[in-house]
Amino acid sequence: MRKPIMAGNWKLNKNHLETLAFIDEITPVLSGVGDVDIVICPPFTSLNVATARTKGTNIKIGAQDLFWEKSGAYTGEISGEMLKVLGCDYVIIGHSERRQYFGETNQTINKKIFAAFASGLIPIVCVGETWQERSAGQVEQVLSAQIREGLQGLNAEYHGKIVIAYEPVWAIGTGQTATPAQANEAHVLLRKLLGEIFAETAQDIRIQYGGSVKPENVRELMAQSDIDGALIGGAALKAASFEKLVKFKG
Ligand code: PEP
Repeated sequence: MRKPIMAGNWKLNKNHLETLAFIDEITPVLSGVGDVDIVICPPFTSLNVATARTKGTNIKIGAQDLFWEKSGAYTGEISGEMLKVLGCDYVIIGHSERRQYFGETNQTINKKIFAAFASGLIPIVCVGETWQERSAGQVEQVLSAQIREGLQGLNAEYHGKIVIAYEPVWAIGTGQTATPAQANEAHVLLRKLLGEIFAETAQDIRIQYGGSVKPENVRELMAQSDIDGALIGGAALKAASFEKLVKFKG
């Protein structure tokens, strides 16, 4: 049985004061939730206050990226160890915006996944096709390359811990959600691809859906056989909306 995981990706939103206000609003209303893993991923500058304020609660904190080296002359970068020491438990890796605007590739993503595990962080690895790729019938080819190259060489001890986020690029921030059936079809495919490399653990790996998830569509998406949670952008920025998403069961 895979425990659902609902994660908010705040992107470039909320300074540390706004982060504290959000956490103070959301913590009491989510305190009774035990059957869903709850993760918030604020910007780097908010992580310190976020981990301190959520300590001892059921809300876990994730970063939106990390660098693969532990230390050294890498101006502007943040290591996995720095995040772990701060109290983070998760880190998003390979979001399509990072692939698109910051030149991330399956190879750099692979290095970051190793760095995350080496630091004791759980990586939320984003995969997904563009509209152009979907239209050209290349969904399987794209997802296969992202999974095979991104997860290459991963030690068996980590297989079941990784979280995959299927985020069709055409559905991110566009208001255009994949239909539950379309999303589940991709999740089933991803689990099959995962099974080819992680035969023993593919059934345990949680696969989130991401792309314009909101309170109005979350229930139907979460009812699908292979959707185990959501990675949420815009709709995770307001406490009332994030609460509804976490409490999707009603
Ligand atoms: C995301 O940023 O991962 C995302 C899915 O964004 P949105 O929910 O706004 O489409």
